[in-house]
Amino acid sequence: MRRKLIAGNWKMNKTLPEAVELAGELKKQVGNVNDVDVVLCPPFPMLFSVGEIIKDSNIKLGAQNLFWEEQGAFTGEVAAPMLTSVGCQFVIVGHSERRKYFGETNQTVNRRIKAALKFGLTPILCVGETLEQREAGSMETVVTTQVKEGLADFSADEVAKMVIAYEPVWAIGTGRNATPEQAVEVHSLIRELLKSQYGADLANKFRIQYGGSVTPQNANELLQEEEIDGALVGGASLKADSFAAIIKAGELLSHA
Ligand code: PEP
Repeated sequence: MRRKLIAGNWKMNKTLPEAVELAGELKKQVGNVNDVDVVLCPPFPMLFSVGEIIKDSNIKLGAQNLFWEEQGAFTGEVAAPMLTSVGCQFVIVGHSERRKYFGETNQTVNRRIKAALKFGLTPILCVGETLEQREAGSMETVVTTQVKEGLADFSADEVAKMVIAYEPVWAIGTGRNATPEQAVEVHSLIRELLKSQYGADLANKFRIQYGGSVTPQNANELLQEEEIDGALVGGASLKADSFAAIIKAGELLSHA
């Protein structure tokens, strides 16, 4: 069984005092978590402080985005070495909100992943179809293209260092999660794709998270699926109790 990875995407939420409080509370509740990997992805200005709070715990730090250049005249952007210098080990890339509001394409996602890998960050590549795409019967084409183009030109060794999060856009922030069957269908599709491109060994070890309205109420039924290697959690990661409950669901299942 692959080790589950539970990541909290705080998006554009939390001031510094609020972020410090949430990180402190999570450290208290799940800081010694052992059987699942846990990552907090606060906004950029909070990374350092949150990192300081969790550094002597088992909780890891991640960012929500990065730019592909290493440094220079790119006002407002944040580079991979900056992220590692404040303790990040993970970075979300190609979140659907970045694709929708900030013009991210599979090509720019690919460049960001390259920068992340160069500096030893684990990219969490987000893919997923919109409701219109699903209803038009093009889910498979959309997700396949996002994975293929997002991963274009990477070697199997590089791909092995990544994580993919399947996040159907219609499930993000809507309270309408994909059913375990729907998620498993797409995870299997992605895993088959990885298998055909990089081999069975890589595909069997590769972690694919599900994201989209994961809550303490539905975490168990989703995470108990062998095909679902963890969760990328938005709204429910903003409160310590609900995020901790999701983490504990993952932990319990790792003993099952
Ligand atoms: C997300 O934004 O990655 C996400 C899954 O959000 P939510 O859990 O709020 O649907």
